[in-house]
Amino acid sequence: MGDRGKVVLVGAGPGDPGLLTLKGKDAIEQADVLVYDRLVSPRLLEYARPMCERIYVGKTPDRHMLPQEQINVLLADKAEAGNMVVRLKGGDPFVFGRGSEEAQVLRARGVDFEFVPGVTSAIAGPEYAGIPVTHRGLASSFSVITGHEDPEKLESSIDWRLLAQQQGTLVFLMGMKNLPLIAANLMENGMSPQMPVGIVQRGTWPDQRVLCSTLDAVADEVVQRGFANPSIIIVGQVVTLHDDLAWLKKGPLAGKTVAVTRARAQASKLTEALEGLGAVVQEHPMILIAPPDNLDALRDAAVAAGTFDWIVFSSVNGVDAFFDALVNAQDICAADVLSARFVAVGPATAHALEAQGVHDALVPVRFDAEGVVECLEGKIAPGQRVLLVQAQQERDVLRAGLQAYGADVTAAPAYQSVPVEEGRASLVEALRAGDLDAMTFTSSSTVSNTICLLGDDAPLLDGVALYSIGPVTSKTMAEHGLACAGQADEATIASLAQLICQDLGGLA
Ligand code: SAH
Repeated sequence: MGDRGKVVLVGAGPGDPGLLTLKGKDAIEQADVLVYDRLVSPRLLEYARPMCERIYVGKTPDRHMLPQEQINVLLADKAEAGNMVVRLKGGDPFVFGRGSEEAQVLRARGVDFEFVPGVTSAIAGPEYAGIPVTHRGLASSFSVITGHEDPEKLESSIDWRLLAQQQGTLVFLMGMKNLPLIAANLMENGMSPQMPVGIVQRGTWPDQRVLCSTLDAVADEVVQRGFANPSIIIVGQVVTLHDDLAWLKKGPLAGKTVAVTRARAQASKLTEALEGLGAVVQEHPMILIAPPDNLDALRDAAVAAGTFDWIVFSSVNGVDAFFDALVNAQDICAADVLSARFVAVGPATAHALEAQGVHDALVPVRFDAEGVVECLEGKIAPGQRVLLVQAQQERDVLRAGLQAYGADVTAAPAYQSVPVEEGRASLVEALRAGDLDAMTFTSSSTVSNTICLLGDDAPLLDGVALYSIGPVTSKTMAEHGLACAGQADEATIASLAQLICQDLGGLA
């Protein structure tokens, strides 16, 4: 067995990615292998290192991707091979999470394990709906109960008399299918039909929904209003506090579903901005950022970095790749050893340069190649050496524009974006189901790769509002016959999110 082989069973919290513990985040950051479930936010997977192996073993209530026995074996095998394995579970691993069963198998095989508790949906779900599980005068205890028992078994496994007669709050997990039976059992055993019942669907997620009802009416209302799993059922007087204590503000994009097509590693800023406005975001990455076919030009440029008067970056990817190459070539990373003036195409790129110690990069008024050419007019002296750190597929605008000023221009392809299959199946499924209100394109390559990957399914895009980050992306959309619902004022993520908010959220 390897030195560091072990399994850390981490509670991921109920949905809102901010509810992961610091210790849980540390564990994910160190993981060699990440084994995760359906109720875990995809955003948490981004903390893992690029090389970390991600294994989805998600379950829906009726279907297991991987039977529990195989999950147990998988965890033990991966740890025995010397890996630091993180088993990421929704909520808390010990609350109907089978974390203890997995640990028993690990102990039997002599594999080390640790637990990192999580925020359980049994408490946090009600809390995000303004329903406290205890409240002085209303409930001095609470019980967390599985509602998933086989209906025939209901009477034998759960003491309904005891539950129906105690004063505390009852919190049922996995109970939506059996809700009519749960309500009937409680009433038969003496609980008032008027007892308040709250349902919190997808608590703490951007599309959280809450329903307040009574024991005799709740089963019908749930059907009428289409509430489904995953939901928490809360039975008790505390539910009446929802009216006073509900605090979660619905954002202007509440009820809208927006697809993000950029590379997974870059998606989080846009996802966060849209979720912050209340939208449900689906990430369907259509591109992957990869090294260029030929790295020689970038390597040569890094070796000769000190000879350039200007270095121009056309994206964050270029900044990352250039400074990696610089460290490799010269064993330096401090930008101040270079005498060049730096130019960033937009604020995100300037921000990435700041992280590398470059604080005075020029940023044009218009955030694209044309804007850079405009902004350098009169600043570049004839004969000055300019390095362009750019995408392999870059348009010729920069080189041509700067050469026209008499500059000696060297272009170094630093990365390329390649189509990835990863998002295709999920995107087609979402489009077919009519789930998407809007889709975002943040570069020409996200547009052309989406079209290329969708193939015959491309007409499915017709019913979706398609938003573009800037003029170059819009032009590519037009070339592919896609109708653009709107173009961001500034080519930034913030501006794109703002546009969608105004357009779809009906805000001025
Ligand atoms: N270990 C988890 C519970 C796993 S059992 C925890 O501590 O939260 C799965 C059940 O949890 C679901 O059927 C549902 O009843 C509940 N659940 C999990 N996440 C939820 C959420 N965000 N909102 C409402 N219910 C949730």
